[in-house]
Amino acid sequence: MDAEKLKIKSQIADLRKQINEYNLAYYVQDAPLVDDATYDKLFSQLQQLENQFPEFHDKNSPTQKVGIPQKNLLFSQRKHGIPMLSLANVFNAEELQNFLDRIKNILAKKILDPKITFVCEPKFDGLAVNLIYINGEFHAGSTRGDGIVGEDVSQNLRTIQNIPKKLNFENAQQAADFPEKIEIRGEVLMLKQDFLNLNQQQTQKGEKLFANPRNAAAGSLRQLDPKITAQRPLSFFVYGVGEISGKNSQLFHEKFKKHSEIMQFLQTLGFSLSSERQNNAQNINDLLNFFEKINQQRSQLAYDIDGVVYKVDDLALQNEIGFITRTPRFAIAHKFPPQEAFTKINDIQIQVGRTGLLTPVARLEPVSVGGVTITNATLHNFQEIQRKDIQIGDIVVVRRAGDVIPEIVRSLPEKRQNSNQNQNQNQNVTQKILQIPTLCPQCGSHLIKEETYIRCSGGLVCQAQIRGRLTHFVSRKALNIDGFGEKLISKLVDLQRLKTPVDIYTLTAAELLDLEGFADKSANKLLANIQKSKTTTLERFLYALGIRNVGESTSKDIAKHFAYDLSKIMAASFDDFLQINDIGEVVAQSIVDFFAEQHNQKVIENLLKLGINFENVPEKSEFISNKIFDGKIFVLTGTLPNLTREQAKELIENAGGKVIGSVSKKVNFVVVGDNAGAKLDKAINLNIQQLSEAELLKMLNV
Ligand code: NAD
Repeated sequence: MDAEKLKIKSQIADLRKQINEYNLAYYVQDAPLVDDATYDKLFSQLQQLENQFPEFHDKNSPTQKVGIPQKNLLFSQRKHGIPMLSLANVFNAEELQNFLDRIKNILAKKILDPKITFVCEPKFDGLAVNLIYINGEFHAGSTRGDGIVGEDVSQNLRTIQNIPKKLNFENAQQAADFPEKIEIRGEVLMLKQDFLNLNQQQTQKGEKLFANPRNAAAGSLRQLDPKITAQRPLSFFVYGVGEISGKNSQLFHEKFKKHSEIMQFLQTLGFSLSSERQNNAQNINDLLNFFEKINQQRSQLAYDIDGVVYKVDDLALQNEIGFITRTPRFAIAHKFPPQEAFTKINDIQIQVGRTGLLTPVARLEPVSVGGVTITNATLHNFQEIQRKDIQIGDIVVVRRAGDVIPEIVRSLPEKRQNSNQNQNQNQNVTQKILQIPTLCPQCGSHLIKEETYIRCSGGLVCQAQIRGRLTHFVSRKALNIDGFGEKLISKLVDLQRLKTPVDIYTLTAAELLDLEGFADKSANKLLANIQKSKTTTLERFLYALGIRNVGESTSKDIAKHFAYDLSKIMAASFDDFLQINDIGEVVAQSIVDFFAEQHNQKVIENLLKLGINFENVPEKSEFISNKIFDGKIFVLTGTLPNLTREQAKELIENAGGKVIGSVSKKVNFVVVGDNAGAKLDKAINLNIQQLSEAELLKMLNV
């Protein structure tokens, strides 16, 4: 043998070894080592080499076999009446055309002008089973196994509700005419919704989550205890028949000439048949249209599919076209681009969002998923990283379904360099566990843990949050700087001219004139507005600081409680804040944390130095003095005839009252306008005094 041939021989041997390894992991361990696209590529490489060099043919090659040899089985073996084959794949129109040409060529040699029509079906992504019915009753069932023998999972199949135990014959005659033995072929799968519910239950029980509906279905069907399978929501869809024998088999063959007719008949007998199927496809355009239509519907379908299957409908023609070792020649699977791929996490970076939320983002080795190159995927939060056991350097499964944002489904810890299972893999992967930060990666402020999330407490200086912060700072209910819009903020932040609210007060006319859209007049007007905003109230100022959980109303309560003294507020303790009505532990902690940050203190100090001052600081006597609504709580409901909600609120608050959003026992008055709804009902129920707008105005003497 020449050197070139020797090289090919060893290449073929390597591919066979590799594919056998992948088969074992996929079919037996339910834990694939590579993604389907990689597998399919290797498989087709091997097929091509074997076709090109028939001298290296080997009946033990994985290309000649279905599934994997059945060894160390969990269940007893059951031989199929007729072998259960796999399906050959095509991935594009050209390959599909080759398939059609092949069929035509075969038939052209045998039949003059055959009329070929195709049935189009979804390709279920579950696992194939063979159900045996004897005299119309479920007798036994098994997995596909190596195509010749499968594992007998009869007890488990019996627990699947939509597998009929007795066929639903229309009448006695139909039952009497039915073949003595029939093999029904189809797919056991888990509906997407059932899969989500199951994983939710697994989370509640603290048990392992299933990676996808296919794994969940496979794992559930191959349970040694049928009681466990019975608790798993499995479904069965029929797509074919196998052996038909014994009494009446001839009658059946005479009656049914088409695959589609058999499927429709089986549906009347109680089997579930996919409603997405289509009969009578005539040509490649019909097939491609079906493929496109189902691809569009894919994300909304109740079950996962990984492609569609085209089958010659006429059974006599199927027979003429025949089989090759592991696949029929009259049918083909047209596969969708895979939605999952394997790739490596090169790094995990932590992004700080506009509201200070820390989000870990995986930087990936670029990988194509569903036709799009993915380089990043969000990991949502740190708990998610722990739950999925994800480390930097890991090989992970990335999924992108339809328009959905790519996500990391799971890691493959078995591929880690230090993993036992990885000793003979030549992957050079070193892992590193992500350290959860203790300080904000943007501004160095301390972090706050809120349930599953971690947030930066860095208030006024965090550059990740600066745009939102400043927009809030200048807004109407805060320092109310007219003309200082989001666009201008964005521009000045980009120029690094605004880093904290302090920088607003050092802007000059010359700087503004440098910006597009400013002329003398507009620049001076804005500067005047900035100047005007310096005289404000303490409650507006507190609100403007954007302390987490501190809104307009809490700002008012705080200012009032501390006698309008900012220094007291800044020095107050957690317990001091708890003294204020309506402030609970979470809010108290946010305020204390905010003022504890030195950089926040510094910004406030500088703002005061630049002239921010608080008008109308009431004398002590004034805020204890009796205003008419002092301490009274109001709820507004419906549309008032004259006042807007804002105006009514202001009037009530000026009179010492407080307006809140929902009715409870502590509410003193409900002001009722037109079309009042549930709040009025609740007020009546709780016997709370109701006021019309007129009554309110009268009480206020307005
Ligand atoms: P297959 O799943 O591609 O196709 C055959 C199967 O399709 C049948 O056995 C049946 O179960 C199913 N099917 C679904 N709907 C059908 C319908 N309407 N009509 C007929 N059959 C229908 O073939 P296979 O041999 O089971 O598996 C091969 C594929 O599995 C590969 O192409 C690859 O994508 C994947 N695989 C991946 C790895 C890996 O490591 N990632 C390893 C082995 C196999």
